Amino acid sequence: MSLWKEFLHPTTVQEAVEALASAPSPAIPIAGGTDLMLDLQQGNHAPVHTLVDLTGIAEMRMLELRADRLFIGAVVAHNRIVESALVQQHAQALVESCGLIGGPQVRNMATLGGNVAHALPAADGTIGMLALEAEAEVASPQGRRRIPLQQIFVGPGKSSLNQDEILVGFYLPLRQAHQASAFKRVMRAQGIALPILNQASWLERDGDVIRQARISVGPAGPVPFRARKTEALLTGKVFSPETIAEAQACLLAEATFRTSPARATAEYRRELVVVLLKNTLTTAWERAA
Ligand SMILES: Cc1cc2nc3c(=O)[nH]c(=O)nc-3n(C[C@H](O)[C@H](O)[C@H](O)COP(=O)(O)OP(=O)(O)OC[C@H]3O[C@@H](n4cnc5c(N)ncnc54)[C@H](O)[C@@H]3O)c2cc1C
Repeated sequence: MSLWKEFLHPTTVQEAVEALASAPSPAIPIAGGTDLMLDLQQGNHAPVHTLVDLTGIAEMRMLELRADRLFIGAVVAHNRIVESALVQQHAQALVESCGLIGGPQVRNMATLGGNVAHALPAADGTIGMLALEAEAEVASPQGRRRIPLQQIFVGPGKSSLNQDEILVGFYLPLRQAHQASAFKRVMRAQGIALPILNQASWLERDGDVIRQARISVGPAGPVPFRARKTEALLTGKVFSPETIAEAQACLLAEATFRTSPARATAEYRRELVVVLLKNTLTTAWERAA
């Protein structure tokens, strides 16, 4: 039995959002299909009538500098991100997170937009980008808006996008002198699609002092988690073992870990997160020298 009735190939963003608004419903976007096809096949997604393929929209395949931002189109595949000199220069945590997703075949098809739109709390590309203060460009038939990435997420697997809205792409601040980021994750050996835990850190250093920091963790709550209290604690502190220990305690206090039968216990995640935090902070600190 066919998983869909109609498959549309818009070539512009406007055509895509109009198709989502007017095609026989349910109509939903598809990019690489690595999440969606499995979900449809395995009955984990409500039946659809129309799939609107976003991968033929040239604007959404762009990866380029735009004024003071790096723009990454939503249908850019993970492998292209990993190989991009621009992303390597400006967004190390994103390169490291996209480089660990699935295997080579998945990374050739799967897109950054699909990773974000699926809104899972531990999606690797999402956690990598969350620490970089990215903004998302959202298009609807009425127009476009740019919002902080975090506003996309409202619950596990649930985004704030309306049925006729799509992610066009992401805007990342350019990396300045003495700024750097890093991403690490722990994964089960048998390669279940999502990690036991992942974590990204971004920081700016001023001599021995952390001028600013941003920390993301997944899964650490119902949505991809930004550790604002830990970020505030690190700001203005001398980088030292004592500061890292304080940050670890703060992160444990503000994040929520739960036991998931297929991956790990909450206790194990608490053990891991302090190790990952020390690791990413130290790596980012050294890179920012
Ligand atoms: C074997 C395997 C291993 C995997 N390993 C990992 C892993 O290690 N880490 C990880 O994070 N993920 C992993 N995944 C999950 C998946 O590959 C990624 O989340 C991927 O980035 C999804 O992108 P996609 O283009 O395939 O999305 P799709 O499957 O096309 O779409 C996913 C969802 O997003 C919506 N959507 C897609 N693009 C847009 C857009 N531009 N605007 C609005 N909505 C949109 C779709 O309607 C759908 O609901 C794995 C999957 C497989 C099959």
